[in-house]
Amino acid sequence: MKPILPLFIMVDACGWEIIRNDAFGKNFAPHRKKLESVFGYSSTCVPSILSGRWPFEHRNWCYFVYDPKNSPFRSLRWLHWLPTAVTGRRIFRRYLTKFVKVQLKFRGYFDLYNIPFKYINLFDFTEKKSPLQPGGMNSGPNIFDFLVGRKIPYFVTDTTKSEEQNRDNLIAAIESERIDFAFQYWAGLDGLLHMVGNQSPEVPAKLRVYEQWLEQVLAAARNHYSEVRLYIFSDHGMANCDEHVDLKARIDALPVKMEKDYAVVYDSTMARFWFFNDQARQLIIAALGQVPEGRIVPDAELKHMNALFEDRYFGELIFLMREGVLIVPSHMGERPIRAMHGYHPTDPQSYAALLTNQPAIPEDITHIPHIHKLMVAHATAAQAANQTAGKPA
Ligand SMILES: [Zn+2]
Repeated sequence: MKPILPLFIMVDACGWEIIRNDAFGKNFAPHRKKLESVFGYSSTCVPSILSGRWPFEHRNWCYFVYDPKNSPFRSLRWLHWLPTAVTGRRIFRRYLTKFVKVQLKFRGYFDLYNIPFKYINLFDFTEKKSPLQPGGMNSGPNIFDFLVGRKIPYFVTDTTKSEEQNRDNLIAAIESERIDFAFQYWAGLDGLLHMVGNQSPEVPAKLRVYEQWLEQVLAAARNHYSEVRLYIFSDHGMANCDEHVDLKARIDALPVKMEKDYAVVYDSTMARFWFFNDQARQLIIAALGQVPEGRIVPDAELKHMNALFEDRYFGELIFLMREGVLIVPSHMGERPIRAMHGYHPTDPQSYAALLTNQPAIPEDITHIPHIHKLMVAHATAAQAANQTAGKPA
């Protein structure tokens, strides 16, 4: 028996609005708080939680950027000669994604999504390392660097394994009493919400499954640690997408050309542009002004969201859709999905949630990067208590 186990469990997309009217976790984590997320996708939110820093600091933001000099994908360009009947198929892209990930030794999450092969040589992929490992951030340290530096033994999710395997591995790590800290990342709810939307009865059903898993993990923890400090949290919420906009068609219709005059990445809720001449800049800005479903995010607002990159690495202009509007087709997908995140952090469905069995959530925990300081504090406390207890009398 050890004294303290801090258990940090991230349920992807378990937003405040998803659980607001649901008693999720009330039996074992009765205190909850609404947290503001950060501007971007999970590719930003998770690194912000893990590092305690903001997008402009850690530079893990959107996946694809215009960077032809550093593009690792130049060898894939010939694929655009293949018929789209082949290359457009999801299965083809899935196999190719796996192949490319191994070839390029990417350690993080990687997907070629729907980036056209014709232009793939223009782009670089920004998550080459895994933020779930020490040294995994694009800039600066994360919680795992801290744990390794302090020699605090920990459990972390293996994202190549299923949720159930990770649940069982966590339980095994707890039963071995070898860890003083755990970070579990369950991604299944996010995938489900993307498919069925936030009003489906499958959502509360999935929450009930997580409750059972959490009960199992807690039962093991209580048998091996006198005190279990539990935090369950999310990185963002999920908005149903009832409107679709073909932004690409509008931009393609302009008398300026991709690659020659400008470059763009169509993420599912935002488009990011790089301009190579003034004409392209003016025409595109004017065209975007005619799209009422979205707006250009001013620099001051990006700065306020801590997502302004002074070097414009992720795009010179960011066009963001209104909550519930999806860019279709986009470079993330050819076809619509039921729900999406990555809207403005203060849009209703964007908020994340934090639940705990601890008596109170400190006032200064208001945004998801603040979860990092909770992790640091509890890991430090656990190590101190567990080491003292482990010493022979
Ligand atoms: Zn997602």
